[in-house]
Amino acid sequence: MDTFVLPTECHDFSMNPVPGARHPVVFPSQWLLENPQWTRRTIECRLLVNSAATPRYSLLLSALLSPAPNFTFAMSADHARQLAAIEDKVLAGDRLSFDDGVFLDEHVDVLTLGRLANVVRERKNGNLACYNTNIHLNPTNVCVYRCTFCAFRADLKAERAYTFTDEMIRERALEAKSQGATEIHVVGGLHHQKPFEWYVDVVRNIHEAVPELHIKAWTGVEINWFSFITKKPYRWVLEQLIDAGLGSMPGGGAEIFDEEVRSQICEHKADSQHWIDIHREAHTLGLRSNATMLYGHVEQARHRIDHLCRLRELQDETGGFQTFIPLAFHPENTGLDHIPKPSGLMDLKTIAISRLMLDNFDHIKAYWIMLGEKTAQIALSFGADDLDGTVVHELIYHDAGAKTPEGLTVEQIHQLIREAGREPVERDTLYRQVIRNGADWTAGAPLSAMVAASA
Ligand code: SF4
Repeated sequence: MDTFVLPTECHDFSMNPVPGARHPVVFPSQWLLENPQWTRRTIECRLLVNSAATPRYSLLLSALLSPAPNFTFAMSADHARQLAAIEDKVLAGDRLSFDDGVFLDEHVDVLTLGRLANVVRERKNGNLACYNTNIHLNPTNVCVYRCTFCAFRADLKAERAYTFTDEMIRERALEAKSQGATEIHVVGGLHHQKPFEWYVDVVRNIHEAVPELHIKAWTGVEINWFSFITKKPYRWVLEQLIDAGLGSMPGGGAEIFDEEVRSQICEHKADSQHWIDIHREAHTLGLRSNATMLYGHVEQARHRIDHLCRLRELQDETGGFQTFIPLAFHPENTGLDHIPKPSGLMDLKTIAISRLMLDNFDHIKAYWIMLGEKTAQIALSFGADDLDGTVVHELIYHDAGAKTPEGLTVEQIHQLIREAGREPVERDTLYRQVIRNGADWTAGAPLSAMVAASA
């Protein structure tokens, strides 16, 4: 601290100990009085989040001593008061409002968001970061819909169209078993020439081949399609799939709930109310499910926050969601390829805001396939506690230009997590610790019990 006393005093800054702060905090007291538009809180935040390494202090002090316009994170006094109120809510564990969410999205820098989200992340999940050993199956890319953000779908007669046979599906299940996977994640296109029984058989074939493999299959959009082609209610559709071996539902198809945005990116698929109704029905039947949000295309902050609030509302009602997965839009080979893909900053901000808004979700997933391993690794300090799995055979986002490898090994995932300063733990689909002996495994304690034990 002594290093900074002289330069700060010379410039009429004071250095004061701040209760609870892990780093010294510089207050530009006189300068602040003369420049009330820049606030103490803003400067304090900037220092607290950057001050782990000594060399950065001198850089930051230079920034502080520069004229105000060079101080990039400064904000108005009104905004600083708003941020202070939100910080108080986060620290007290109180719920953030829609307006709070929009404010965070539009006015607060990524480091402040990350610092706040990390408070919630560590409160809920301690230092643990989980992953699962899973395998993907996209049994067909033939799809009746034409979502403008989708690079995966194909017309029936297109050269790249494919549909798995029963044999190929069983082979994928056996491959999963040989790799020690605990889960198979199944989503695909809506093949208009396949009856509902074909989709049920996908689940049945996997279940018969490897009964212990957890089958997480068919998004709300697919369940809606099955209901449409069978003319049966959602409950009936879900019951047939549960009988065939369905274990839980993935969170895809939610995109952005706002109907105006939805009409621009996926006008034909299930609307938001249907997606929500299907997940409510699944939860009522005892199925757990996930939730997603596709961001970084034509939507705005208010659409993202509205989406999170609607998910939070259903979670209050059912408690059936396990994790939330923000999905970064990949423009390549899509009808929206004129839009640049979201920046790393937007990825981290979205993860942090999701963690802050979804106070009733236990987990936030950094889906490394879409984010890239590096951003996903950093996301573990911005609210995320889950890196998803050792995914192999992933097609949907690689068709849209994802440059990540199609699979990571357990060793690579452990390294990513440990480098981020977190403790890796393998989980199963239902967020229980996996106790492993090579390719064999059993489910242990829920992660929540591990977090409680480590507190
Ligand atoms: S996102 Fe799904 S429903 Fe939409 S076109 Fe692609 S495969 Fe079909």
